[in-house]
Amino acid sequence: MNLVLLGPPGGGKGTQAKRLMDTFGLVQLSTGDMLRAAVSSGSEIGKKAKAVMDAGQLVSDDIVIAIIDERLDQADTQNGVIFDGFPRTVAQAEALDAMLVRKGRGLNAAIEVRVPDALLIERITGRYTCAKCGAGYHDKFQKPAKDGVCDKCGSTEFIRRADDNAETVTKRLDAYHAQTAPLLPYYEKKGILSVVDGTQDIAKVTTDLETILKSTKK
Ligand code: ADP
Ligand code: ADP
Ligand code: ZN
Repeated sequence: MNLVLLGPPGGGKGTQAKRLMDTFGLVQLSTGDMLRAAVSSGSEIGKKAKAVMDAGQLVSDDIVIAIIDERLDQADTQNGVIFDGFPRTVAQAEALDAMLVRKGRGLNAAIEVRVPDALLIERITGRYTCAKCGAGYHDKFQKPAKDGVCDKCGSTEFIRRADDNAETVTKRLDAYHAQTAPLLPYYEKKGILSVVDGTQDIAKVTTDLETILKSTKK
């Protein structure tokens, strides 16, 4: 089963993708994570992407399409993937459809995690992750059980993203509405779009997503 998670920055896509992976045997493919890895490795792609990401704009379609195309040729994606943060433009969605056909696969579902803009600044400015294992947290909404210690791996080091500041968030929201929101009618026309209420607590959003995925045709 291949699934696209749609929704605004800070909507909870990454949080939910991680919670769904084990239950459904899927692999999370986050283009944001892959681009950040490219930036820290100092690769050519990373150099091109960095300034664009810091400005809250979208990296060019060619770059992200190539990254996903290559990643889908690795064996661990065979059983199915959760696309998290990709596609983000209609051109990326069309390229994804074409590459899945080429690889003999298909898309089973696209789910919008819907959250109004007013809630997203607080979600994003409070976001941080474990530096060692990548587990996601929030200053207010998802604290580790023991202050300053990762629940998953016990690490005491955490990181915040350079682009998770109030000014950049506004630009990322503009990019979402202008360039990514058109994917909602795109997938609706294909008959594979569902919506979950992303303002609910994290566990309830997961339950709603699981209900949809259980009734999704493989
Ligand atoms: P968020 O989860 O907050 O929406 P991401 O980690 O998905 O953020 O993305 C961070 C940044 O990486 C984006 O603002 C954009 O610059 C770039 N990026 C990630 N995925 C894509 C994509 N599919 N197309 C273009 N740019 C992307
Ligand atoms: P996205 O991947 O869509 O950009 P994240 O999954 O990184 O979003 O979530 C953004 C922040 O909001 C994180 O700090 C996360 O802990 C928190 N968060 C995620 N889902 C919820 C929720 N349903 N309610 C409250 N906070 C949430
Ligand atoms: Zn950890």
